[in-house]
Amino acid sequence: GQDPRIARISSAIRVIPNFPKPGIMFQDITTLLLDTRAFRDTVDLFVERYRGKDISVVAGIEARGFIFGPPIALAIRAKFVPMRKPKKLPGEVISEEYSLEYGTDKMEMHVGAVQAGERVLVIDDLIATGGTLCAAIKLIERVGAHVVECACVIELPELKGRDRLAEKPLFVLVNAA
Ligand code: AMP
Repeated sequence: GQDPRIARISSAIRVIPNFPKPGIMFQDITTLLLDTRAFRDTVDLFVERYRGKDISVVAGIEARGFIFGPPIALAIRAKFVPMRKPKKLPGEVISEEYSLEYGTDKMEMHVGAVQAGERVLVIDDLIATGGTLCAAIKLIERVGAHVVECACVIELPELKGRDRLAEKPLFVLVNAA
């Protein structure tokens, strides 16, 4: 059976229809952060999965990967590396362009933050089309590191983002419509 903590996490996520635009069902994790038990359970479930897997880097995707990534990184004794929107990181960066519904966006990572051969966990709050995680995977692989798994709190399975991650495993806690 499913871990009983999942039901509490699922019900702590608020769904706001038509945000930020018509037709989008926005999965709002700020209400999960207000439920101290559900927030702790979320972090614990990831820590239980990734502890002892020889992961040296947790790469968190801006912005909500910056909420879940650091507590996981601390608990498994890994570094935390922010994967940021363009022109936010002050040092030398490598960047990867990816397509959105309309137009493109870019993701950047500091040169030297991840070393060749490191084992990396990529974390974000949600996978929709998979474009964002795909860009993160490319950045990590470009520096010769290995993506052990991608992890999200929520998956929108209808969008089949999982299929875009090629061979990389994806672990999620909650499926949403
Ligand atoms: P995608 O690249 O299509 O997989 O989109 C994933 C990114 O967009 C994540 O960083 C999410 O935080 C955000 N996102 C996409 N769709 C939603 C949604 N319905 N609710 C909340 N966040 C979303």
